[in-house]
Amino acid sequence: MTERKLRTEMPKRDPAQRARDFDEVALGYTEEQAREEAARCLMCKKKPCVAGCPVGVDIPGFIELIKAGNIAGAILMIKQYNALPAICGRVCPQESQCEKVCALAKKGAVAIGALERFAADWEADQEADVGGGVREPRQAGFTKPAPKTETAAGGNPAQLSSAKASESKQQSVALVGSGPASLTAAGELAKMGYGVTVFESLHATGGVLRYGIPAFRLPRKVLDREVDYIRNMGVEIQTNVVIGMTLTLQDLFADGYAAIFIGAGAGLPYFLDIPGENYSGVYTANEFLTRVNLMRAHLFPEYDTPISVGERVAVIGGGNVAMDSARSALRLGAKSVTIVYRRSRVEQPARAEEVENAKEEGIKFRFLSAPKSILADGQGRVNALDCQEMELGEPDKSGRARPRPKPGAEFTLPVDTVIVAIGAAPNPLLTRAAADFKIDRHGRFEVNRATMQTTMAGVFAGGDIANDEGTVIAAMGDGKRAAQAIDKYLQEKRRLTAKPQ
Ligand code: FAD
Ligand code: SF4
Repeated sequence: MTERKLRTEMPKRDPAQRARDFDEVALGYTEEQAREEAARCLMCKKKPCVAGCPVGVDIPGFIELIKAGNIAGAILMIKQYNALPAICGRVCPQESQCEKVCALAKKGAVAIGALERFAADWEADQEADVGGGVREPRQAGFTKPAPKTETAAGGNPAQLSSAKASESKQQSVALVGSGPASLTAAGELAKMGYGVTVFESLHATGGVLRYGIPAFRLPRKVLDREVDYIRNMGVEIQTNVVIGMTLTLQDLFADGYAAIFIGAGAGLPYFLDIPGENYSGVYTANEFLTRVNLMRAHLFPEYDTPISVGERVAVIGGGNVAMDSARSALRLGAKSVTIVYRRSRVEQPARAEEVENAKEEGIKFRFLSAPKSILADGQGRVNALDCQEMELGEPDKSGRARPRPKPGAEFTLPVDTVIVAIGAAPNPLLTRAAADFKIDRHGRFEVNRATMQTTMAGVFAGGDIANDEGTVIAAMGDGKRAAQAIDKYLQEKRRLTAKPQ
């Protein structure tokens, strides 16, 4: 029997070098490596990997094209299903999705994410979209909007309203937020021929992809390119517009938008609720990462947002957000960074690859440890974290072993900075914007999962504001389903209002 080849690992930069800058860690495959890896695929008839992909990419289809050296064909095929392949190839948790169910999973799944990234980066190197940004509208009676550039609307409701009213002949959809959920829905709707406007509250697009995930995992030029791809489909993006404040949902309907998709994410961080959380030197991961990624604090004084982490940093939490915070703190000059997580490595939700990268860079882990209180010096400046050792008990509702305090086992970590990365909830600005909305106990919209329709007519929602998965690809899957449902909803509405012949 012939020995099957081992998975081709993606080359990475040296840990000692990469831990001191924000340049990308993973280097990507060469064409030779990609074709070698593609050749491992068994081209399974039942395609279990496709069922494991929330946006249903034809995985063996594009892999076969890479194997044959037809990379342009591969990226064209991927983009039929996924408009953000360079992003997904970098940040999706493939090990718990398509690669988990790959027929070769036990021996080393085909590196589907790395191959997707390779195809997308290859296209970027060609200096032109082979994936074809703008497609013809499929429905009669729609006028395709002229491609527009990003507008910083600057919060003038009157101007925004009148600008929109002049386009009212065309059926348009408004999308709230410019994260992966809205960008995906926007691209799909634009392909169908709708007029599409995305309203983003920040001055920059991309949502968590820009303000949360650091550049060493997702370079900004990769993000910019994929946002441009969506924009070139005819999607208008207006930044600095807070829906619920600058404009209300009612304003959007009054301005002539026929439907609304809300992809406003979950940007309201949870706090520990322990003594000392208000001391100087305690950040939520949301604030910490936003300061670095969006406000460029790591380039202070060139940019005027300062950040100081001192020499010793503790990060509370075990997910991707905790890993990103810890690795960013290291890059800001901390000498020692410790992850404090109340469960064990087995239950840790962060991507395996990122935990590995963090370890290689020298991040320390205190598993089965929970913070009890934060201590400070006479000036109110953090100087230590009191912790409690934990042990695992029965599984909780999520199926993970429930941590409980180990009697008499406590310790103190001397630290200068504490970063709290224990999760986030949606901002209630939109979920509580109308009495018609039903929200769940976590503050998320209750939606029909098949259509992403909220309990308010004409309003759909998806991504972190409506699901508990908290991944880019789940947000994209929601956006895709919502776009299809919005199209159906609007077709039905037009049918009902059409005059009899
Ligand atoms: P978001 O990406 O949160 O975008 C929402 C957008 O809406 C934001 O730009 C926000 O400014 C805007 N907005 C909010 N309110 C309003 C309003 N009222 N009006 C107008 N605009 C508004 N997932 C992975 O799959 N892999 C990873 O490796 C990974 N790492 C992560 C690392 C970090 C640090 C974080 C925080 C998350 C990470 N995630 C990861 C999770 C993933 O990024 C999210 O699940 C995903 O971005 C959710 O997409 P979304 O479109 O729902 O919302
Ligand atoms: Fe290839 Fe794995 Fe998909 Fe089978 S399951 S087609 S081996 S990627």
